[in-house]
Amino acid sequence: MSSRPGSTPSSRRNPGSQSALRLLNQERVLTALAAGPATQAELARATGLSTATVSNIVKELERDGAVHTEPTTSSGRRALQVRLTPDNNVAVGIDFGRRHVRVVLATRDFRVVAEDAAALELGHQAEHGILTARGLMEHLLTEQGLSHGDVIGVGVGIPGPLDHRSHTVAHGAVLPEWVGIETDTRLHEALGLPVHVDNDANLGALAEATWGPHGGAQNLVFVKIGSGIGAGLIVNGGPVYGHLGITGEIGHSAIDDRGAVCRCGSRGCLETVASTTTMIEQLSRNEPGTVTTRSIVTSARDGHPPTLRVLDDAGLAIGHALGTVANLLNPEVIVVGGPLAELGELLLAPIRRGILRHTIPMVGASTALTVSSLGERAEALGAAALVFRRPVTAKS
Ligand SMILES: [Zn+2]
Repeated sequence: MSSRPGSTPSSRRNPGSQSALRLLNQERVLTALAAGPATQAELARATGLSTATVSNIVKELERDGAVHTEPTTSSGRRALQVRLTPDNNVAVGIDFGRRHVRVVLATRDFRVVAEDAAALELGHQAEHGILTARGLMEHLLTEQGLSHGDVIGVGVGIPGPLDHRSHTVAHGAVLPEWVGIETDTRLHEALGLPVHVDNDANLGALAEATWGPHGGAQNLVFVKIGSGIGAGLIVNGGPVYGHLGITGEIGHSAIDDRGAVCRCGSRGCLETVASTTTMIEQLSRNEPGTVTTRSIVTSARDGHPPTLRVLDDAGLAIGHALGTVANLLNPEVIVVGGPLAELGELLLAPIRRGILRHTIPMVGASTALTVSSLGERAEALGAAALVFRRPVTAKS
């Protein structure tokens, strides 16, 4: 299996190209500098790059105005201190869900300067969601005294598989109203800014590997448990897109050969067993009309036996699917996100049992399992991080 961490369309078109590698190295240096100024030797240590490579990258970044350098002394020796150029530039991160849209404005040094969210009706048309997002974005920019000229780009998360050939949402999306829409073109037209679109689980993974406490993780799996179940994969420091851009669809791993028919056309997929929609359906048999994702969280905390049983069954099944992923990728950490993540150990315990049952012992024992600390902002923050992964000269 080979994967290459480049994330731009151009690097995807030229896998393994020199420019993709240079871009990745630029990202590493910029990410290291987001933590604060550093000498070139410190940057080499932080990024694992050679001092010669760091020196070349710093020259490029300085020429582009992204960083500036000044002489300093380090351990009694002359050195060059590098820092990010302070500016007003922000990235916009937009996260579309079935019932919400969230917008954040973030700076390159990973500060959220403003954010807002709006509720959307279930089954809303894509166009309505896009216009709502535009309204939120424009309001936040005005509030901060910023204009389009201060925006480096807009990252957008969509909860569904994205076909990178046609830039459309593929069938099987949690948002059926978005299927077939040329997301890049339509969003670019509507927002009037450069737009980069990705699947929400990929962005969750990117956020965890960029903003979260697992910033140093080179191999990370982010799994979002919601009305759909999807995973984002970071391997060797970058997202994995595969051939078409459709990866991490663990919601459609077969768990039960004789289970229910899934919306993807297969039978017994993980989603038919462990999505929040399935949990709500199962619990609604005894309490019709009252169960929501929110009430599952409350009931689980109150020790409600049927809720705990449903969570246990779902967690074991999710752990089963994640065990297969862990055996394939051997990640340092698996991060669980979505609306149930706030349950913490109540949710993690059955998932952990499922993982341990379905991995080889060394992999199971060495894979950390945790809930996301970024909460419902994870995907929007990942969308902003996607913008910062672009070349610094991409501003238009
Ligand atoms: Zn399926």
